[in-house]
Amino acid sequence: MNKLSLSDVQLRDKKVLIRVDFNVPLDKESKVSDDTRIRASLPTIKYCLEQGAVKVILVSHLGRPDGQVVEKYRLTPVAAKLAALLGEPVKKLDDCIGDKVKADIIQAKEKVILLENLRFYKEEESNDKGFAQKLASLGDIFINDAFGTAHRAHASTEGVTHFLKSAAGFLLVKEIEYLGQVVENPKKPLILILGGAKVSDKILLIESMLKKADEIIIGGGMCYTFLKALDKNIGNSKLEKDRVETAKGILEKAKKANVRIHLPVDNVVVDKIEGFTKIETVGEDIPDGLIGVDIGLKTIESFCQTLKRAKTIVWNGPLGIFEIDTFSKGSYKVAEFVAKLSAVKIIGGGDTAAMVAKFKLEDKMTHISTGGGASLEYLEGKALPGIAALTNKE
Ligand code: AMP
Repeated sequence: MNKLSLSDVQLRDKKVLIRVDFNVPLDKESKVSDDTRIRASLPTIKYCLEQGAVKVILVSHLGRPDGQVVEKYRLTPVAAKLAALLGEPVKKLDDCIGDKVKADIIQAKEKVILLENLRFYKEEESNDKGFAQKLASLGDIFINDAFGTAHRAHASTEGVTHFLKSAAGFLLVKEIEYLGQVVENPKKPLILILGGAKVSDKILLIESMLKKADEIIIGGGMCYTFLKALDKNIGNSKLEKDRVETAKGILEKAKKANVRIHLPVDNVVVDKIEGFTKIETVGEDIPDGLIGVDIGLKTIESFCQTLKRAKTIVWNGPLGIFEIDTFSKGSYKVAEFVAKLSAVKIIGGGDTAAMVAKFKLEDKMTHISTGGGASLEYLEGKALPGIAALTNKE
C-alpha cells in the first residue's frame, strides 16, 4: 500500500484524531448488543496510547439520525463498553465540534475521549469543508480505522484529510491487505461463493470477478434469476425480472472467459416463508406456487466438492434464508466445510459476516471484513474515497 499507516507516523505528545466505526447494534435498554466493531478498534487505540499520544480522540457515527440530535443514537453506551474493553477510562462528550469540545478535550484527565455521533450534523454526510476543518482542528494527526465507511466521502473520512496528515489504522491496513490480495494477486484457483438477496447488488462484483475467479458458485435468492435465465421453472422464488437478461449475459461472458458457474441442482422449497405448512426438496425446477429458501443436500455436496479445488475462497452472501434456522442448513454446511479447508478464506461483511458469527465459525476464517458495502466496492475494483484520501508514503 502506498498510503501512510499507523506504524509510519510519530504519535508522541500528539492529539490523535481517529475515525472509528462504532456503528454497533443497541438493545432495548440501549446497551451494546454486539461489540465486535469496538473490539476491532482496540489494537489501534492501544497502540496510540503506548506510543505516547497525549490524547486519543475518537469519532464515529451511529445509526441514521439524518443530521439531527436523536437521543437513541447518542454514543454514550458505546463509551461505557469501550472503557470496559480497554481497561482505561473514557471521557464521552456530548458534541463533536466547537470551542467547548476543544476546551473539554484539553481539560479532560482521561486520555481517551469519545465525541458525539458525527451524523447529528448533516454536514458530516455532505462532506462540508467547514465541518471537516472544525473536526480536523481537534487533533494534530488523523487516523482512519473505519473500513465500514471508507466507501463514503464524508467529512470524517475524506474531508478531514485535507487539513491533517492522515494515515490508515491497523484495522484498515488489515482489510486492505486481505482484500487487496484478492484483487491484485490471489492464490489460484480462486472460487467465489455468491448468495444473498439480489443479483442487482452483485452485478459489478461478478463482472470484476469474471476476470479473476476460476469458478463461481451461486446460491441464495439471487440464484433463481440465473435459473430463470436458463429457462428453469422457479415457482414463486425471488426473481428480479429486469435482471434475467443480465444473468444471461453473465452466463455467456463466463463461458467465454472459461469461468465455471455452479448453480443449485436441488432446492429446499416451502409454500410460504413465514408459517409454512409444506417443506420439501425438489430438483432444479421448482413447482408453481412454491418458494426456494435454501440449497438442497445434493447441491451442498457438489458445492463442497468444487470448493476443495480452491486456494482462495471469497464469500459474499448467504446461500439461503439463514436467519430462519430451518433454512440455514445449506449456508451452515458449506461454511462448516469451508472452515476446514486450508485455502485463504475471505468473508465479506454485512450479512455474510453475521452468518459466520451465527455459526460460530469466525476464528476458522482467514479474514472477515468489517464492511459490507465497503468490501463489496473494494472487490469490485473501485477506489474507496476514505482510503484514496490518506497521505501517500514519500
Ligand atoms: P445480501 O445482503 O445481498 O447478502 O442478502 C442477504 C439476505 O439474502 C439475507 O437476509 C437472506 O435471508 C437473503 N436470502 C438468502 N437466500 C434467499 C432466498 N432463497 N430467498 C430470499 N432471500 C434470501
